[in-house]
Amino acid sequence: IRSELESLRDKAPETLDGYLVPITANIELLEELDGVDARGAKGIGLFRTEFLFLGAEKLPSEDEQAEAYIRAAKSQYPSPVVIRTLDLGADKMPVGFENPDELNPFLGDRAIRLCLARPELFKTQLRAILRASVYDNVRMMYPMVCCVREVRDANTLLRQCMMELSKEGIPFNQDIQIGTMIEVPSAALIADIIAPHVSFFSLGTNDLIQYTMAVDRGNENVAHLYTPTHMAIIRLIDHVVNVSHKYGLWTCVCGQMASTASFVPLLIGLGVDELSVSPSQAPLIKDVIRKLYYSSAVELAQKALNSHSAEHVERLCHDLIRTIA
Ligand code: PEP
Ligand code: MG
Repeated sequence: IRSELESLRDKAPETLDGYLVPITANIELLEELDGVDARGAKGIGLFRTEFLFLGAEKLPSEDEQAEAYIRAAKSQYPSPVVIRTLDLGADKMPVGFENPDELNPFLGDRAIRLCLARPELFKTQLRAILRASVYDNVRMMYPMVCCVREVRDANTLLRQCMMELSKEGIPFNQDIQIGTMIEVPSAALIADIIAPHVSFFSLGTNDLIQYTMAVDRGNENVAHLYTPTHMAIIRLIDHVVNVSHKYGLWTCVCGQMASTASFVPLLIGLGVDELSVSPSQAPLIKDVIRKLYYSSAVELAQKALNSHSAEHVERLCHDLIRTIA
C-alpha cells in the first residue's frame, strides 16, 4: 500500500481525457499538516480554525493565531491554504461561550453571526490571518453565511484591520483572496448577489444537506433522511457552480461529498473546480479522478440533473464508480 501511495503522490489529479481537478485537504489541527503532501493533496482547502479555540483554556491571542496560520502557510507554500474564520457554535462551543437560552443552537448564534456580534474576537482573528498573508498562498473564507450583509460587514471589518495594520507598519497581502462558504440554502440561492463581494465559493455540503433537508447531520434517528443525492442538493450545487463561473469565480467542495469516491464524478461533472478532502481520503479520490473520463462525468451530471429521484441519482453514481474502481 505504501508504494502505491507513493506512486500516486506526485501524479496529477487529472482525468484520462486531461481535465485537472486540484485536490486540497481539510484539516483541523496543525499536526495534520505533514500528512497532506504525503497523501498527494496540494494545499489546504479548509482549515477549521475553531479547533485552536476548543481545546484551549483561554482564547488564543493574535500572536498565537498568527503563528499557527504562518506555520500552515509555510508548510504548504506555494500551494494555497484557505483559512476559514471561526465556525464556533452549536456543537463547537469553547468554555465560557455556551448560551443556555438557545433552544436551537444549530440555528442560533454561531459562526459568522457570532463573530460579527463580537467584533473584537473577530478582528483578532482577521488581523492574525492578515499577518500570515505575507505568505501569498493564504486565502480566507467565512462560514455559515446566510445573507449578503454578513459578507459585506465581514469585509468592512477586514478593511478596518488592514488600515490598522498599515498604520502600525505591519505587512500583509492587500489582495488576499476572500471567499465564502455556501452551506445554507439561502446563500446558495443568492450566490449571484454574493459573488461580486468574493473571489471564490466553497460548498459545505455537510451543512448544506442538513439545512436543506432539515435533517440534523449528527442525529441517528433521522440519518436515513440525510440525502446527498436529493434533487434539491444536486440543483443547488449546479446553481452555485454555474453562478460562480458566470462571475469569474471558482467553486470548491469541502464537505464530505468530496471525500466520497462515488460522488466525485458527479461533482466534477457539475463543474466543481476543486475538491478539498479528508487527508486520509486524498489518495482514493485522486485514484478515482485518474481513472475517470471527464466526458463521462459530464454525462452523469446531465442525467442526474434530469432525474426525479435521489435513489436514481445514487444508482447512476454507483454504476459509474463500479466501472472505474
Ligand atoms: C460543511 O458543512 O460541509 C463543512 C465543510 O463545514 P463543517 O463540516 O466544518 O461544518
Ligand atoms: Mg459547515
